[in-house]
Amino acid sequence: MKNNRQLFLNHVAQTSPAPMALEIERAEGIYLYDASNKKYIDLIAGISVCNVGHCRPEIIEAVNAQMKRHAHLMVYGEYIQYPQTKLAEELSKLLSEKLSSVYFTNSGAEATEGAMKLAKRVTGRTEIFSFRNAYHGSTQGALSIMGSEDFKNSFRPLLPDTRILEFNNEKEIELITKNTAAVFIEVVQAESGVIVGTTEFFRKLRAKCDETGTLLVFDEIQTGLGRTGKMFAFEHLNVVPDVLLLGKALGGGLPLGAFIASKKLMDSFTENPVLGHITTFGGNPVCCAAALASLKIIQQEKLIDSVEEKNKIIHSELKHPFIKEIRSKGLLVAIEFGDVDLNMKIISKCIENGVITDWFLFCATAMRIAPPLTISNAQLKEACKIIVASI
Ligand code: PLP
Repeated sequence: MKNNRQLFLNHVAQTSPAPMALEIERAEGIYLYDASNKKYIDLIAGISVCNVGHCRPEIIEAVNAQMKRHAHLMVYGEYIQYPQTKLAEELSKLLSEKLSSVYFTNSGAEATEGAMKLAKRVTGRTEIFSFRNAYHGSTQGALSIMGSEDFKNSFRPLLPDTRILEFNNEKEIELITKNTAAVFIEVVQAESGVIVGTTEFFRKLRAKCDETGTLLVFDEIQTGLGRTGKMFAFEHLNVVPDVLLLGKALGGGLPLGAFIASKKLMDSFTENPVLGHITTFGGNPVCCAAALASLKIIQQEKLIDSVEEKNKIIHSELKHPFIKEIRSKGLLVAIEFGDVDLNMKIISKCIENGVITDWFLFCATAMRIAPPLTISNAQLKEACKIIVASI
């Protein structure tokens, strides 16, 4: 009989010549357990998804309870389904009037797609700007605004009227005009290896978008829900977007995304044409129940309050001559080794030693650290010691 590794390689579509191929049997808190019951500290949380840790009983209970009430009932936007309505209310309580209407999707990329359509519909324009090394998803629209030509070239033609600007470069802001429908930007660029946006740059960007009637879209799919030490990373800047994208951690481990705007903007989907954006599963009630339970954990356990202290632990514990730089915002951290081979070897060694880390899509010279926010100081110190020993 074939083993699971062979089945995985033969029958699960592969996207990498060298997948990690860890066979994880179960997970709990910050730990993953493989088929031989080896325990790993999860320092990447499924790429910033499991902010409240794995297999939280509160989430399991909420999912079970919702499954008993009902799962899927109808396509998006027709029926009133309590967990979806309640989640939209809870999110809008955390945001301003400008961000009070939530369109739920299944994924981050779909949130990007929906926001691209919204911007075109609202402004009547087609030009969309984004930034070098930005990642907004892999579907055709999201790929069109990806900030890396290497990933796009084999899939052209993509959307016309897109342009890549330099992140944090104030001069580039002048390229935004009354022809620009939207500017898509991450407040902290994640896949570029954690590049933090400057307040000055974002203030000027906001002012220019106000002047030209361009929608400013913040992609917080990776930074949202506490990852950077605020519920949303834009709270560090005091600059509010016209549209906010969420995903990843939103669903507490289940697939859920959202694009959020004002009711006035979002209502444009109700006419010309009616049903301006359609999804079957977006805002699935079971996923929304998980999301509500996860949000409650973040708030009740005050997980965001200790993010900064944990950031300091990483900076103080990770000292080694091979580490060239540590870039970070809260618990989104890049350990820069300046060399792809060295980074890959260290990541492999860490896994061998029971700590799971990763690299970044557009920055393979740096190691990713983005643990569940529930990791304790002692667990984090232990993980850092294993990383230093692995180096
Ligand atoms: N935007 C950002 C900033 C992301 O990090 C990601 C995923 O890594 C996405 C969008 C796409 O989300 P998804 O993989 O759920 O489509």
